[in-house]
Amino acid sequence: MTRLSPEQKLKFIEQGRVFGYPRCCCEAFLLRFDMPVAELMAEPPRKLHGTGFVPCLECNKKSEEELCSIIKENRVHPTPFPHA
Ligand SMILES: [Zn+2]
Repeated sequence: MTRLSPEQKLKFIEQGRVFGYPRCCCEAFLLRFDMPVAELMAEPPRKLHGTGFVPCLECNKKSEEELCSIIKENRVHPTPFPHA
């Protein structure tokens, strides 16, 4: 993983907002860039795998239906979620 500059992080959060991803999840995802690989490997599998969205541990407890409706409600981006 590459370390991100503060500008890249801000851009990432903004992009996440456009996609309708909860801010807590975007911030948790950014922290993953600074995490050791061993720690990442030890993490539980996340919901909605393969959609481009990685929920934070707290949101990962919600059902995929619940997460999808949160994202759809907040989404500004024209492409509907999940774009598989
Ligand atoms: Zn979250």
